[in-house]
Amino acid sequence: MPIYEYRCKQCEQEFEKYVPGASTVVACPGCASEQVMRKLSVFGLKTAGAFQPSAMSGGGCCGGGCSCH
Ligand SMILES: [Zn+2]
Repeated sequence: MPIYEYRCKQCEQEFEKYVPGASTVVACPGCASEQVMRKLSVFGLKTAGAFQPSAMSGGGCCGGGCSCH
């Protein structure tokens, strides 16, 4: 279910909207402006949060950046 977070460029209000298709027009609920920026989706943030710990734990002593392995 594609729910995205947006921020209005006109009144700087932040809101979430369900966007079933890429062609969906998103307008600000406060001022009805279509000048909005899409932020990272909730699902994207969860995926990134689950990915980072495993990436950080790899490599042991130096993270794999040196030639000691
Ligand atoms: Zn607005």
